[in-house]
Amino acid sequence: MTETKVLSGKEVASAVYNELTSRIEKLSDKKITPGLAAVLVGDDPASQVYVRNKTRRFEKMGLFSETFSMGKESLQSDIMALINELNSDDRLHGILVQLPLPKEIDSDSVLRYVRPEKDVDGFHPENMGLLALGKPRFISCTPKGILRILQFYDIETNGKHTVIVGRSNIVGRPMALMLSAKNDTGNSTVTVCHSRTPDIVFHTRQADMVIAAAGMPNLINGDMISDGAVVIDVGINRVEDDSEKGYRLVGDVDAESVREKASALTPVPGGVGPMTIAMLVENTVEAAERSIS
Ligand code: NDP
Repeated sequence: MTETKVLSGKEVASAVYNELTSRIEKLSDKKITPGLAAVLVGDDPASQVYVRNKTRRFEKMGLFSETFSMGKESLQSDIMALINELNSDDRLHGILVQLPLPKEIDSDSVLRYVRPEKDVDGFHPENMGLLALGKPRFISCTPKGILRILQFYDIETNGKHTVIVGRSNIVGRPMALMLSAKNDTGNSTVTVCHSRTPDIVFHTRQADMVIAAAGMPNLINGDMISDGAVVIDVGINRVEDDSEKGYRLVGDVDAESVREKASALTPVPGGVGPMTIAMLVENTVEAAERSIS
C-alpha cells in the first residue's frame, strides 16, 4: 500500500487567493472593494473564533468587512431589522450570518431574510434551489471548498461511489447535490448516511470516497473504509485535554487507523477548514463582480 496523500486545504486555499488577486485588482480599478458583513449573535466562543478568522482573511486580502455583534438576548425582529439594513448597504456585497444562532431564534427565517444576491454562504432557499436544479449561484462554502480540493488533487468523482456521513443543510446535503450533479465535477453515485442509518459501516466499506461531516470524533476508522479510499474529514470537534487552552480540535476521522488504508486524507486542522474561508472570499468577490455586471 502506498503512502496516504495529504490533501492540504491550506495549499489549495493559497492557490485560490493567488487567483483572486487579479479579480480583486480589476474591481479596484472600477473603485469597488468587495465587502462582507458578518452577523454574530450571542457569545458562543467557537463562533467568535470563526468570524474573527474570516474577517482577518478579508483584511489580509485588502477587502472590506464589518462584524455586527448582537447580544444573546436579541430578538428575532432586531436581527431581521439589521439584515434589512445590510441588504441595502452598497458597501456590502456579502452577508454572513454565523450559525448556530441562539436556540430561541428561528434560523431558517433569518437566513431567508438575507437578499439571495448577497447570500455568499449559499444558505438561502433560492440558492439551495438553484444548486438542486444544477444551476448554482452561490454554493455553500464548505462543500464548494471540498470540491475544489478534489479538483486540485485530480481526484476523480465521475462514476465513483461517494458516501457522505451527515445530511445538514450546510455540509452534507449540498455536498450530495454537487457530487451527484450531471457534470464533470459530479457524476458520482452518492449515498447519504445520518444518525438513523442502521449500519453505516456497510455503506462506508463500499465507498471510493467517504466524506465525514457528522461532528463526532473518531466516527470513521480504518476498519470502516476500503483499501485505497479517499477520505475527507469535515469535522471540527473540541476535545478537552490538559493543554493551556483546555481543549484541542479533532475531526470526525481516526486519522491513524485510516492512514493505513486510505489513498488520500484531509488533515484536521489544515484540510477543509481553510477552504471554507477561501470560498467565502471567492463568493464575496463573485458577488461584487455580479453587482456591476
Ligand atoms: P450538524 O450537527 O448540523 O449535522 C450533523 C449530521 O451528522 C446530521 O445529519 C446527523 O444526523 C449526522 N450524524 C450525527 N451523528 C452521527 C452518527 N453518529 N452517525 C451518523 N450520522 C451522524 O453538523 P454540521 O453539518 O453543521 O457539521 C458537521 C461537522 O462539520 C461538525 O463537526 C462541524 O463543526 C464541522 N464543520 C466544519 C466546517 C469546516 O470548515 N471544516 C464547516 C462546517 C461544519 P441527523 O440528521 O439524523 O441528526
